[in-house]
Amino acid sequence: MAEQKRDYYEVLGVDRNADEATLKKAYRQLAKKYHPDMHPGDKEAEAKFKEASEAYAVLSDADKRRQYDQFGHAAFEGGGAGGAGGFDFSGMDFSDIFGDIFGDFFGGGSRRASNGPMKGSNIRTSVRIKFEEAAFGCEKEIELVLKDECETCHGTGAKPGTAKKTCPKCGGKGKIVVTQQSLFGMMQNVTTCPDCNGSGQIIQDKCVDCHGTGYIARKKRIQVSIPAGIDNGQCVRIREKGEPGINGGPRGDLLVEVLITPSEKFERSGYDVYSIAPISFAQAALGGEVIIDTLDGQVSYEVVAGTQTNTRIRLRGKGIPSLRNANTRGDHYVTLVVQVPTSINAAAKEALRTFDENCGNTLKEGGTKVKQEKKRKGFRDKIKDL
Ligand SMILES: [Zn+2]
Ligand SMILES: [Zn+2]
Repeated sequence: MAEQKRDYYEVLGVDRNADEATLKKAYRQLAKKYHPDMHPGDKEAEAKFKEASEAYAVLSDADKRRQYDQFGHAAFEGGGAGGAGGFDFSGMDFSDIFGDIFGDFFGGGSRRASNGPMKGSNIRTSVRIKFEEAAFGCEKEIELVLKDECETCHGTGAKPGTAKKTCPKCGGKGKIVVTQQSLFGMMQNVTTCPDCNGSGQIIQDKCVDCHGTGYIARKKRIQVSIPAGIDNGQCVRIREKGEPGINGGPRGDLLVEVLITPSEKFERSGYDVYSIAPISFAQAALGGEVIIDTLDGQVSYEVVAGTQTNTRIRLRGKGIPSLRNANTRGDHYVTLVVQVPTSINAAAKEALRTFDENCGNTLKEGGTKVKQEKKRKGFRDKIKDL
């Protein structure tokens, strides 16, 4: 290589002790800026892209970075510690570097080229419960179709007594190396073998019970313990009730989303409960006992004389138990709403007129006193709130 090469750190615009994340960020920016897909036919962009890729490939590899720090570009040129022949891209797993950075560029590709044990996929489902069930927790049973290992072939997918044969395409490795002509010259990519899907083996005679899949799908009933305090949309995770693992890996998990049917009486915000309780005008004016619905059933509350409509009271600790600690509960806020009677008999009407004459005479004098009263009470309420 006759041309003068730029310093790798300079190429990426980072300093010499930049960490992994900084390198990656710098490279990602450059790669996006100069990616050939964005600049078809632009030789300069292509050169910049190559330069940045080479710099990143070296600096993101701890060994290569050490060599580079010690010997500079000589490390990867003839006679250097890295051996002959310029920088060797063929030994690098680009699918790994690019998969990470260009997941969106190269369509994500199939990066999983492993035929070792892998955890199965998670399954998502949902369960609907009542407001009170969510508050105090409950047990629910859900029905679900789950795959299980086929008992006939023990998950191999091959007819009992028959053997699988080694996949001729990959020679049993489960991976194949695809050589592609790329900007860097020939680039080698390791991908999952399409013939055996990475298992390295091919079934000759399929098991008749599972049609060669190795799994049987069955309807299962699963017990879900829903903890007290759970909120709408939260998930309960049941370990290893998802899809079966691959090559002896553990099953995936089952994620049960909890959907809470709204209550007609209560509303919820965090662990606090809100509700409305009607009180009569007489109760509001004279004070007295009202019965209030709470999560724990009905409780009696002593309304003070002169309670205004929309007064909010707090029933401490009558809210929803905390998901973390069921002994701690939110509060229950009750808005007392004074009811104005809509149909009253003659005697009650007469009593009301007498009442009005005795305090305010609003029916005859146009309600000025009412306004004053309201103002005064409003102020007192504010103080009470403080
Ligand atoms: Zn089978
Ligand atoms: Zn194969």
